[in-house]
Amino acid sequence: MTATRPRLVAEALTDVGLRRPGNEDNFLADAEALVFAVADGMGGHAAGEVASRIAVDAIREVMAGGIGGDWPFGFRSDLPEPANRLRTALLTANRRVLEASRDTPECRGMASTVAALHLDGDTAHVAHAGDSRVYLLRGGTLTQLTADHSWVGERMREGVLTANEARHHPFRNMVTRALGGRGDLEVELTPCPLLPGDTLLLCSDGLTNMVSDARIGLILDGCDVREAAHELVQAALDGGGDDNITVVVVRLEGD
Ligand code: CA
Repeated sequence: MTATRPRLVAEALTDVGLRRPGNEDNFLADAEALVFAVADGMGGHAAGEVASRIAVDAIREVMAGGIGGDWPFGFRSDLPEPANRLRTALLTANRRVLEASRDTPECRGMASTVAALHLDGDTAHVAHAGDSRVYLLRGGTLTQLTADHSWVGERMREGVLTANEARHHPFRNMVTRALGGRGDLEVELTPCPLLPGDTLLLCSDGLTNMVSDARIGLILDGCDVREAAHELVQAALDGGGDDNITVVVVRLEGD
């Protein structure tokens, strides 16, 4: 009765970039628990680093079974159990960032984006808040699975801005949903049926503001996961390295 466990290879990498004094991104890559996440923290005096660390720690803990028997944020009957667990993980992370923000003066107002992935059999459960992204590469075609919760992302969906305009817009860093923003956060959940050979990428905007989707697709398509992670970070540095860069590459091995 056990679901087929996908054979996968994964590589995660983070880099401070060329212009920021510290790295406020954090990631989680647990190939045993089949949980992967990227969090991009925001807030002054290194509080962003605290927010993204709290976020990935909470997700790791909840996905390892640390929520006990009940569902503190309710159980959505329209979602399977693994998706509910991932939702609970992100809402727990939200609550912990809010509590730390309230209890620690230096951390007031901190927040973090999150993009997370939990593999269950042949389904990837994707959850996110903010502008960190999850992409799928299948048969050489790159598809963004997450819709950015950001000011420019919303303008793009309205057809007001192109992807290229959004990438260079002065408001490109303004997120409209994040962990630590509000208590009634709505986590967006997206199921994605997987096929052998699929590659998933989780990343912070330090990659996507510097490197086009076309280039990301070429790198993922042409490299093993280890090379791909390094090539992606290098492409963001070559593009200017304006921000912290984090990538998690997960590939399901083919038959
Ligand atoms: Ca960032």
